[in-house]
Amino acid sequence: MSQAVVSEPLERTLVLVKPDGVRRGLAGEVIGRIEAKGYRLVALDLRTPDAALLAEHYAEHEGKPFYAPLVEFMGSGPVVALVAEGQRVIEGFRSLAGATDPTAAAPGTIRGDLGRDWGLAVQQNLVHGSDSPVSAAREIGLWFPAL
Ligand code: GDP
Ligand code: MG
Repeated sequence: MSQAVVSEPLERTLVLVKPDGVRRGLAGEVIGRIEAKGYRLVALDLRTPDAALLAEHYAEHEGKPFYAPLVEFMGSGPVVALVAEGQRVIEGFRSLAGATDPTAAAPGTIRGDLGRDWGLAVQQNLVHGSDSPVSAAREIGLWFPAL
């Protein structure tokens, strides 16, 4: 009797190369790591986000002390926004990105290999990645409404 094969569903996640990453010329390195891991790019765009988009994107952090400087930083220059697709890509990209604090992030991760503290705590940590399927759906809808 043959056994049914149930494959895991494809997921999508929103990734941002933050303004520090684009300014430092690391967008290609981040995209390369995503592709080398085996995920597929389904959307890609370079743009400077406006305050309204950033307020929605970071709504969960409103009221925290780092919120206003974070929104200002994120609007300070172009970001690369992309959607990557693959099985467990939400968890997988968070793993590629490493811990929020780039000083503490493990070597081998994007933040651990390429990031450091520049005197602004953990604000400039190169990348954003959606943290759950609910966040991913919400964030992809904000950044790529046509998808
Ligand atoms: P992430 O999901 O790993 O990006 O981290 P969070 O969702 O907790 O925070 C969102 C972003 O806010 C982080 O990636 C940092 O850029 C910034 N951030 C988080 N915590 C702090 C903090 O304590 N101080 C500062 N300056 N920025 C922070
Ligand atoms: Mg987060």
